[in-house]
Formats: sequence, structure tokens, C-alpha cells
Amino acid sequence: MIIAIDGPAASGKSTTAIGVAKRLGITYLDTGAMYRAVTLGLIENNIRFEDSSDVENFLENLDIKFSESPTGMLLILNGRDITKEIRSAVVTSNASEVSAMKIVRESMVLIQRKMAESDDCVLEGRDIGTVVFPNANFKFFLIADETIRAERRLEDLKAIGESSSIDDVMINLKKRDHKDSTRMHSPLKKPDDAIIIDTSILGINEVIDKIVNTVKHKGH
Ligand code: C5P
Repeated sequence: MIIAIDGPAASGKSTTAIGVAKRLGITYLDTGAMYRAVTLGLIENNIRFEDSSDVENFLENLDIKFSESPTGMLLILNGRDITKEIRSAVVTSNASEVSAMKIVRESMVLIQRKMAESDDCVLEGRDIGTVVFPNANFKFFLIADETIRAERRLEDLKAIGESSSIDDVMINLKKRDHKDSTRMHSPLKKPDDAIIIDTSILGINEVIDKIVNTVKHKGH
């Protein structure tokens, strides 16, 4: 069984997907973390995003793994724990440019399909219900008020010790959503058959309940 959860930045996808996976006892895959990992790797290795042969070479040697830990899911890039680094402002602001590249998307989609092929899985991202798993058993599209999304992102940044203002966060969110939804390859878009959930008017447990109830109701 595949559950696809898509939506714009800070719409509550990660918290929801983690909760749904826990309640249903299935695997959880944060595909945004994978694009962030590629972004971090390219920056650290001084690879220019325009240099497609260097990017391709980097992707060929890429080893991305998720690993469960008592503190949550860790992301391991070429043997190194990069869970915290991928949340930095510099990675966040470059992720949309990196994820717009066709070769990056092709490579991530292959890994995502492989990671989810043998288990029941909830995947969250931008193109799960449209491209990665167009035949997913369940598709949800999360939305939320812009101010609420900016407040959430500000809290996330505080948690990793980065300071910012609500205005800056809001500008960056809007920029990222615009880039993600207007790119040529696999833009952020609501799948036609997805159920929309507005997370600004529901508590996190209500959002999780809504998804879990839909899944149980349909007999999975
Ligand atoms: O979900 P998160 O904010 O961590 O995603 C970081 C970036 O990765 C997004 O802004 C988007 O550019 C990219 N992304 C994507 N496709 C996905 C998941 C994330 O292009 N399925």
C-alpha cells in the first residue's frame, strides 16, 4: 500500500506522515530530505549546479540511506549523519534550484520507488501522487494559511539554532513554492484524485485521524 502526501512547504506534511506511519505501523519516507541531501552534497563538494556532468558524476556516487533511531529518522549521506545540516537556511534556499534539475529528479525517483517497493509506505513530497506513485492507493494534498506556515517554519529554524524573522521566512516560503510549482519537471501540483486537507484549521491529531480513517475505511 502506498499513501502519497503532497503539498507546499511547511504545510505539515512531515509531522502528518510520521504520525500516520506510526499509527498504521508502516514505513515513512521524507522525499524532501533527499533533495536537501543532494543540495548539501553539491554545496559541500563545490559542484556548480549548472555543471551537469559534475552533478551527474556526484549522483552516480551518491549513497543516501534513512536509518531509524530513538530520536527519529536519521539521514545518512555517504556514511555521514546529515540529519541536522539539511535543515539549514542555506540548504533550504538552494533546494528548489537543485530539485528542478531533470537528472536529480530522475535519480531520486528511482531511489524512492526502490525504497518503497517492498513495504507499505507513506511518502511525503511534492510529486508523489503525480509522478513517483501515480497509482498510489491513497493521495492527500495538504494546504495551510501562509502566515501559519511561516510561523511553523520559524519554529523549525529556532529548533536548530538559526534566527530569522517572520517576514523573511514568509518571503522565502513564497519563493520556494513559486519555484517548485512553476518548474518544468514534476512541478508541485495537486493530483486530480487527491483529497485536500487544510491543516491551518485542524490540529495535527485531527489531520492524522482523517488520513488513518480514510485508509481504514477503504479496507487496508
Ligand atoms: O519538503 P521539504 O521542504 O523538505 O523539501 C525541500 C525541497 O525539496 C522543496 O522545496 C522542493 O524543491 C524539493 N522537493 C521536490 N520534490 C519532492 C520533495 C521535495 O522537488 N518530492
